[in-house]
Amino acid sequence: MKDIIGSISTIRNFMGNAGRNTCNEYLYEALTDAVESMEGDVAAKPVRITVGAHDSTDGCPVCKKTFYEKVNFCSRCGKAIDWSKK
Ligand SMILES: [Zn+2]
Repeated sequence: MKDIIGSISTIRNFMGNAGRNTCNEYLYEALTDAVESMEGDVAAKPVRITVGAHDSTDGCPVCKKTFYEKVNFCSRCGKAIDWSKK
């Protein structure tokens, strides 16, 4: 898999270091948005969330919302969830 986030981040960082002007400000903003969007699409494994005194359940690694079924995306923050066992 290509490291698309890394590639776009490199362009963003280069533009940031090179000094932006008003002509490429839109491009810089677009790249920043694209990176943030793709970071949300990269699946992360659920984390254990403590529920009450003696129980725990799977939850979102970003916003800690608890899941009651194996959702592909968190309904609160949109984070992609990876349920594979590895
Ligand atoms: Zn979430």
